[in-house]
Amino acid sequence: MRLGILGGGQLARMLALAAHPLGVRPRVLDPSPDAGAGAVAEHVVEPWDDARALARFATGLDAVTCEFENVPVASLEALAADELAVRPGPRAFAAAQDRIAEKTLFTTLGIPTPAFAAVDAQADLEAAVARLGLPAVLKTRRLGYDGKGQAVLRDASDLPGAVERLGGGGLIVEAFVAFRREVSVIAVRGADGDCAFYPLSENAHAGGILRVARSRPGDPSRDEAVAHVARLLEHLDYVGVLALEMFDTGAGLLANEIAPRVHNSGHWSIEGAETSQFENQVRAVLGLPLGAVDAVGHAAMVNFIGAMPPAREVLAIGGAHLHDYAKSPRAGRKVGHATVRAESPAALEVALARLVALAETHGDG
Ligand code: AMP
Repeated sequence: MRLGILGGGQLARMLALAAHPLGVRPRVLDPSPDAGAGAVAEHVVEPWDDARALARFATGLDAVTCEFENVPVASLEALAADELAVRPGPRAFAAAQDRIAEKTLFTTLGIPTPAFAAVDAQADLEAAVARLGLPAVLKTRRLGYDGKGQAVLRDASDLPGAVERLGGGGLIVEAFVAFRREVSVIAVRGADGDCAFYPLSENAHAGGILRVARSRPGDPSRDEAVAHVARLLEHLDYVGVLALEMFDTGAGLLANEIAPRVHNSGHWSIEGAETSQFENQVRAVLGLPLGAVDAVGHAAMVNFIGAMPPAREVLAIGGAHLHDYAKSPRAGRKVGHATVRAESPAALEVALARLVALAETHGDG
């Protein structure tokens, strides 16, 4: 079978690596000749929004999926119109690309989310803040990621000029959540409607970028998280892996955002689950049976941001597994990660502390 992937970064690379053992031949579409997935997949070097390039890319494929949520919805619709299985489908992307559409969907489905309002001018912000209170978080509705395109408004002095500084409009303001922790649930739904839910991930961010994700089998918030994401899967008639990021307030979960794709907070599943999120994405998208998602040992993942630590030092840590994305170093860029797996939570924390120290010494932390 042949699987097409729009986007050729590290997520496509890990999807391709999971596809090969299943006898699936991966093909990626990415305009950058240096795209990291090109080392492990057939690489079509073309843009995502050119109808002829899309048609060439799609020739002979059994299904198409995406590694990033900001793929043009029109491109997905064009591919789907050609009788090709595009999974997940365009609807999930339309919701994930616009924070207002996303939060409206949560609300429609009864999934709690922080209070929010659309902001297209400074007056909208003033009115919304009068209702939501401060602190609040102002974000771009579209194309924000890793904390880019957002500002925390702590007090009234942060309001003047705030809308202008984020581009003048097309914004959302949300109530600031004093969360106890951030969690996510990675779910997968097969073409036959079969669903599986990975153990909850507990995620630590710094500077808006995910740094550490821990697998939390048996977490008390899991059932609540699963109930929320299951509603999204059904409503969107979703096929593939879906990540739902949430704030744990201590008095329940509030949905922050969805990613209609494999997600950084699920990378630990390569070594820390029976079947990784990448393999299950390949299985789901091609209509194959899903694999079990049970935890294997205790696992956590550390992102390498900015630059990679020396492989020798990572591999010297017992239970550590290295994933180098073969990207050139750059401040703020995710260039690789390591998963550590251990027999006990205590042993996990010891090894994890060593990995975090390496990430901080050699990268941006
Ligand atoms: P986002 O781009 O929405 O995922 O936001 C990036 C990070 O900013 C989140 O992982 C949180 O750490 C923080 N953040 C986003 N929205 C809020 C909020 N409403 N209240 C508090 N922190 C937030």
